[in-house]
Amino acid sequence: MVGNICLFLRPNMENYKFVGEKILSWYQIHKRILPWRDIANPYKIWISEIILQQTRVVQGLEYYERFIERFPDVHTLAAADEQEVLKYWQGLGYYSRARNLFAAARHIETHFGGKFPEDYAALLNLKGVGEYTAAAIASFAFNLPYPVVDGNVFRFLSRLFAVREPIDSSKGKKFFTDLAGRLMDRRQAGLFNQAIMEFGALQCVPASPDCGGCIFTSQCLAKMQGKVSEFPVKSSKPETKTVFLYYFMVRSGDFIFLKKREGKGIWQNLYEFPSVESETPLSFEDLVEHSAFRAFFPANTRRRLLFKPLIKNYKHVLTHRTLYADCYEVSVAKASGLGKCKKIRRDEIEEYPVHRLMQRFWEMING
Ligand code: SF4
Repeated sequence: MVGNICLFLRPNMENYKFVGEKILSWYQIHKRILPWRDIANPYKIWISEIILQQTRVVQGLEYYERFIERFPDVHTLAAADEQEVLKYWQGLGYYSRARNLFAAARHIETHFGGKFPEDYAALLNLKGVGEYTAAAIASFAFNLPYPVVDGNVFRFLSRLFAVREPIDSSKGKKFFTDLAGRLMDRRQAGLFNQAIMEFGALQCVPASPDCGGCIFTSQCLAKMQGKVSEFPVKSSKPETKTVFLYYFMVRSGDFIFLKKREGKGIWQNLYEFPSVESETPLSFEDLVEHSAFRAFFPANTRRRLLFKPLIKNYKHVLTHRTLYADCYEVSVAKASGLGKCKKIRRDEIEEYPVHRLMQRFWEMING
């Protein structure tokens, strides 16, 4: 072993060149035709990269097309209303991505006159743009030689060279970024980056890759060792927290009430029914005594509330959280004092950006 690379596929310039050339040839034949491919428009590349961060291509495609149709350039996005941007993002999850897009568009409009910055450092300075996205925009749009290392690239390189360096450690990230940089043909940086990502996405897939039909079948160390499933290596599993949520669909005649979620959480600025959140399950008696409940329903209204359970113990899984949610219908004769809730007609809910759980509840209630 040299460092964490086995010597079978020796890490030298000759082998790097060999791998780089093979990947580029493979890409010319196998690449998918996608609307953000083979273009040099940094705005469109940026939008596609942000959408694809946590979303599969098939699902992302539809969102990308709708988003670009409504917000075709930085100027249009910067001039929009954040609520509308969130509405276009509805269902994609990870809403901070949409909030950051909006903030970054305004930043570009104010500081660069609406023209996308063309250097890596300025790209990295945009809200929501990390090293990966900055490298993607810099290389795809401007052909700058920054290696792009996403999950597909980590997986492919870790298998090809049988690298046991954990991909979720800062040492591992640096290691794989350097390795990808050495494989890259710097004259065709954008093309190479797209090719290596596509190779990981289509050929060196997470489960049961077709190693027999792979162009690296005679060189891949993980395959030769019969240990493909052991790569990539991760150092830790993120902790998952359990949260219990109790929602109240408060009705007053034809009206219901929505609350805009505040604070810094993932659902910030999205709308939902008023709710109580707890780290432990609450009995109904505990629930009505909870400070958040009392804030929604002041003492003079609490006696007249009628509760009807609608949904019980609905499980909703997020990346680092498992939610168990109940929903009650609460009928009130006259609605007043419901905290900062918005009173809307039932059919107006379509106009408000809501998170996936709230959307699911609404479908179930009206199902
Ligand atoms: S041989 Fe298998 S594991 Fe190795 S690069 Fe090809 S598809 Fe991936």
